[in-house]
Amino acid sequence: MVEQLQRYGIFNSKKVAEAMEKVDRGLFVPAGTPAYVDSPMAIGYNVTISAPHMHAMCLQLLEKNLQPGMHALDIGSGTGYLTACFALMVGPEGRAVGVEHIPELVTSSIKNIEKSEAASLLKQGSLSINAGDGRQGWPEFAAYDAIHVGAAAREIPQPLIDQLKPGGRMVIPVGNVFQDLKVVDKNLDGSLSIRNETSVRYVPLTSRDAQLRGT
Ligand code: SAH
Repeated sequence: MVEQLQRYGIFNSKKVAEAMEKVDRGLFVPAGTPAYVDSPMAIGYNVTISAPHMHAMCLQLLEKNLQPGMHALDIGSGTGYLTACFALMVGPEGRAVGVEHIPELVTSSIKNIEKSEAASLLKQGSLSINAGDGRQGWPEFAAYDAIHVGAAAREIPQPLIDQLKPGGRMVIPVGNVFQDLKVVDKNLDGSLSIRNETSVRYVPLTSRDAQLRGT
């Protein structure tokens, strides 16, 4: 699957390929779900695990900010797949922090990671998955070199901007029905440079109640 994504020109980074090959997607999708098909898959609670080409694209956009020792935040960590990739890339000296507002997904993502190549990082503490409202970020390990948001926001939450390090990059889908994947770079003087990478379709970044109601 990873080879195919590279052949189709989705990404060309060796480090991204390495991380995606190490983290077996089969451990992160519900039993009976075809794991290696390039499509989002339902994981319950009205949400999906993102398609592999979106994971690959986001990893590549963030690659320079996922160097060993750096801090990475994954909002809406869902299955934990991408957080595990972050953890492998930033390594034991770095920090990979997932925030997810469905407690059951927090529990199942931790179980998924425990079976994966990233298990030792979870045990050792450089990788953690936390229950909470991701719109508030996770101040404990701020500032972050890389922030990924896996659900579409109406606008970029201010706490996430505040928790981005100067020189850091955030990748976040913004919009309602029509969404843009935005790449937000915080310059060293604290100003922001924002560009649209591509049009996307993500589930909303919302409250737990609204998500479970499906509104
Ligand atoms: N990137 C993950 C999940 C993508 S789906 C993966 O590929 O597995 C988006 C996730 O965001 C869902 O798990 C959903 O429960 C979560 N989410 C939505 N709004 C949230 C919020 N306000 N705070 C934390 N998590 C949120």
